[in-house]
Amino acid sequence: MATRVINFNAGPTGLPLLALERARAELLDFEGTGMSIMEHSHRGKDYERVHQQAISLLSELLAIPAEYQVLFLQGGASMQFALLPINFLPANGGADYLLTGVWARKAYAEAKLIGNVRVAANVEDARGVCTRVPGQAELQLDPRAAYLHFCSNNTIMGTQFHTYPDSGGVPLFADMSSDILWRPMDLSRFDLVYAGAQKNVGPSGVTIVIAKKSLIESGREDIPKIFRYKEHAKENSLLNTVPTFSVYMVRNVLEVVKSEGGLPAMEKRNRQKAALLYELIDEQPDFFRTQVETDSRSVMNPVFHLPNESLDAKLVAEAREAGFVGIKGHRLVGGIRVSIYNAVTVEQVAQFVDWARRFARAHA
Ligand code: PMP
Repeated sequence: MATRVINFNAGPTGLPLLALERARAELLDFEGTGMSIMEHSHRGKDYERVHQQAISLLSELLAIPAEYQVLFLQGGASMQFALLPINFLPANGGADYLLTGVWARKAYAEAKLIGNVRVAANVEDARGVCTRVPGQAELQLDPRAAYLHFCSNNTIMGTQFHTYPDSGGVPLFADMSSDILWRPMDLSRFDLVYAGAQKNVGPSGVTIVIAKKSLIESGREDIPKIFRYKEHAKENSLLNTVPTFSVYMVRNVLEVVKSEGGLPAMEKRNRQKAALLYELIDEQPDFFRTQVETDSRSVMNPVFHLPNESLDAKLVAEAREAGFVGIKGHRLVGGIRVSIYNAVTVEQVAQFVDWARRFARAHA
């Protein structure tokens, strides 16, 4: 039996053990075919079954309405930063962006290279650090915008939108890389959401896009075919070779999520995990310091820092020895980040919190 660490990485990160075990069991001989799913043609019936299962599981778990389509693309969420404006930003139009941290800004910067983009709200300080998400009243929306783009969970800053922005009828696009599938959601509020799989959904290598079919159809046609959502949609994401093994792993992860009670169960569990960490922070705010405003606290990536950087480093090093990995904060903000995506259990977080309390007793 392999010794597995408790993985708090920000992504890629831990996957459900059952999903990995299934992959191990099927690695050399997928369902009696005498080869791994990786060795199958992406156009064969065996892979096609997996592909369709992944789409139907995602559709079931997220209750995706019929007028939406799921796409499996490559290039990460970062590719989407570029593809969105390339497809949907008309030469004579503009798009609105909310600046809420590193990834949101990267999306904005890519779009700026393509066309006319506006900042509809900016909560960054001079270093690009954010401690909250903007409220609806702060948004300065252009009613003529081609779309409004925001990032629902700011993986680096540890901030999250708990109420989605009201775009006032303008198509709403969201980077949900680090919080898709954390709870049930009403997709009908959105025209397009996307997420690199490597946090809640599976391994890296595949990016999930869920978009209204009518939006996909409206995309530009004077761009290379491989950049057009429309072409990927027409071919059910098999325009070219899809990352078959990543999609297969997504299928395995979604099966586990379903068997564990689906998204209502994920939400309950995620809220319990976040509550444990924020209790720790709130009971000793002088030791576990966080600048994130309470209403903007992320359920996926709680962040804090200790009274000085050497204590941060000590905590990271000692935690690693105790079997907790991946908690060093992003270099921009430093400190500690405990990413608690779906595969992390409540018990694992409870163990870490107990351990961190002992660390505080020894060092406070
Ligand atoms: N958006 C968010 C919110 C992210 O957390 C990340 C990666 N951590 C990205 C975008 C970039 O994703 P990728 O590496 O898949 O391009």
